[in-house]
Amino acid sequence: MKAYRLTRPKRTWRLTNVPTPSPGPMEVLVRVRASGICGADLEISRGEYPLARFPLIPGHEVAGIVAEVGSKVSGFTRGEHVGVGWLQGSCGNCTFCISGDENLCSAQRATGVNVDGGHAEFLLTHQEYLHRLPENMDFEHAAAMMCPGMTAFSALKLAKLRPGGRVGILGLGGVGSLAVQFASAMGAEIAVVTRGNKEKIQLARQLGAHHVLASDKKNPGELLQQLGGVEVILSTTVSARYVSESIVGLKPNGVMVWIGVPHEPIPVHADPMCAGRRRIIGLPSGGRVDVREALSFAARAGIKPMVETYPLPEAPRAIERMQNGLLRFRAILVPEP
Ligand SMILES: [Zn+2]
Ligand SMILES: [Zn+2]
Repeated sequence: MKAYRLTRPKRTWRLTNVPTPSPGPMEVLVRVRASGICGADLEISRGEYPLARFPLIPGHEVAGIVAEVGSKVSGFTRGEHVGVGWLQGSCGNCTFCISGDENLCSAQRATGVNVDGGHAEFLLTHQEYLHRLPENMDFEHAAAMMCPGMTAFSALKLAKLRPGGRVGILGLGGVGSLAVQFASAMGAEIAVVTRGNKEKIQLARQLGAHHVLASDKKNPGELLQQLGGVEVILSTTVSARYVSESIVGLKPNGVMVWIGVPHEPIPVHADPMCAGRRRIIGLPSGGRVDVREALSFAARAGIKPMVETYPLPEAPRAIERMQNGLLRFRAILVPEP
């Protein structure tokens, strides 16, 4: 099969021929129909991701068709439409695993990180970490649901956004755009804070934002305060200053969820946190329950992620657009069927 298999950390990806894996007793071979390129893939391929092991095929946002099942697989049959996300296994026995928080387990197997991922024609996965796709969901939309979609969904769930509540979304990229779409379907009043150009401001409105706050020269926290504050902030930005300045835009009892990970420390004053009982929660992404809930919610609500599709050999072109900030909003690799 054709695959972007990295023998060691490197910045440029080259498509090569590698043996197609065959499933063990509990495994399923998936014919990849769509595979989203995540910012994490670029960090992994640059060797900046501690859990990554090489040689490695990256890609953890995968949708496809069951091609072959192992001898002891009971839940899936050939031809079914399925999705594979970040989680590919965990210890199954720690307090996190037995309470449905397997995404917090320290013994995680992660797709495209320490087991081979989906930037290839086929992907091997354990049946317990395979998700059936809702009927009528396109592969490229399902792929975007497997990481940015379910992350946005689980962030809103974790923040306990109330119906009709006001939410601020920092940054309009893969996760931010889907957070707008999910929050809109949940009936929220949405303020997007972006440094973006006119095109992004217009896109934010199209996706469902009620307020678009351009923070090029203004303090994002003050802009949110001018609206009367928000109950929830989802931060998808990687700017530490931006995150820090936004905190004062939270109403008392408000919660900020950190999804984007700035590399430098984020300065936080204790005073507004303590005085207003404000909280910050870090979110690594969701677990299997979140994937399934996000998929069915999106299918019912008719949420279609904005994606750009590229034939599998054109990953380098997609990555270039991504690095130049031009993607709207996810690059999806599509192998030949
Ligand atoms: Zn991802
Ligand atoms: Zn565990």
